[in-house]
Amino acid sequence: IKIAVPKEHAPGEKRVALDPSVCARFAKMGLEVLLEKEAGSAAQFSDSAYADARIVNDAKSLFGEADIVVKVAPPSADEVKKMREGAVLLGFFHAHKNVDMVKALQAKKITAFAMELVPRISRAQSMDALSSQAAIGGYKAAIMGADLACRFFPMLTTAAGTIRPSKVIVIGAGVAGLQAIATARRLGAMVEAYDVRSATKEQVESLGAKFLDLGVSAEGEGGYARELTAEEKQQQQDALAKYIGQADVLITTAAIPGRDAPKLIPQSMVDGMKPGAVIIDLAAEGGGNCELTQPGKTITHGHVVIHGPLNVPSQVALHASEMYAKNLLNFLTPVIKEGALALDWEDEVIAKSCLTHEGQIKHEATRSLIE
Ligand code: NAD
Repeated sequence: IKIAVPKEHAPGEKRVALDPSVCARFAKMGLEVLLEKEAGSAAQFSDSAYADARIVNDAKSLFGEADIVVKVAPPSADEVKKMREGAVLLGFFHAHKNVDMVKALQAKKITAFAMELVPRISRAQSMDALSSQAAIGGYKAAIMGADLACRFFPMLTTAAGTIRPSKVIVIGAGVAGLQAIATARRLGAMVEAYDVRSATKEQVESLGAKFLDLGVSAEGEGGYARELTAEEKQQQQDALAKYIGQADVLITTAAIPGRDAPKLIPQSMVDGMKPGAVIIDLAAEGGGNCELTQPGKTITHGHVVIHGPLNVPSQVALHASEMYAKNLLNFLTPVIKEGALALDWEDEVIAKSCLTHEGQIKHEATRSLIE
């Protein structure tokens, strides 16, 4: 089996699908690894570090030779066209935003596995790229908050007086939010957090943060949150406003699967924030949790800085690539048997993460969008 690692071309994407150590693991399993020249260089992996790979100079022959292509960002329709008919492709796809790409996958009869569709069951935790990358986003959000703030995070007792610790509030205590809490705590901030899923209270408290009980809970399917009703949303905002007014840094990570990010922070709430307060809107990719967020930009509204970063994991490209590569290795290891690909369609992980196969769209939500 030939497995190919192309260079990523999405704007700002520094990650690479395989790092040298996972490349070595695939080679040990008997696969031939083809690496496009300099595919790992933005993540600080030189071509020479990939001792077990064959370096290929041009993308066309790389895609054309591969039985399996592994990517990070969604492929362009052009990349799909370069692939062999019937080949396997793994990566993030965000199919609802990339209809032309899905049609290209169908036309080329590509078997596409979307890492964002891997079911979040215990057995698949080691393949869960949404989690590995969200954890990086959460860590970095706390660092960004500390960087943009005009205040220290920790309490400092110095000859020049005592500095009170910053108050960091985290909204949405999923994978990213919990890592943001842990990082802000390590930097010495006082942290408060809120989530609509009441199960997060214990997780927040175990990290040494205070859980804000706003009296609204909305557990959805599969451990996710559901969308709030208009009435619940109002209740949440009324209760939240008084806490937000005390925050030095607000980190928002709230998301509902398959929807735009819920707007939780209206302009009036921003107007009530402290001078010099910072909002890190990690939900910017889905439009943002704050009404004023401009995805990809840092703006100032009154005396409040609002930062809406995109593709945060790419900013920690080396470790993000290593973790993502492990997720891919854990996904592919059980399906490679005696040097051949053996896809077990009875396996929930395989069936649910498949986007397209033999010209069909296997993922129901994408199918209803396109057909
Ligand atoms: P996510 O990125 O979809 O959402 C982030 C957080 O925002 C969630 O915690 C959600 O409850 C919260 N949220 C949504 N609407 C909100 C609102 N209006 N106000 C406040 N918070 C709001 O979620 P995620 O971080 O990817 O994962 C969330 C869940 O999935 C967790 O229960 C997690 O434990 C579970 N999970 C399970 C596995 C597994 O078992 N393999 C792996 C990863 C995650």
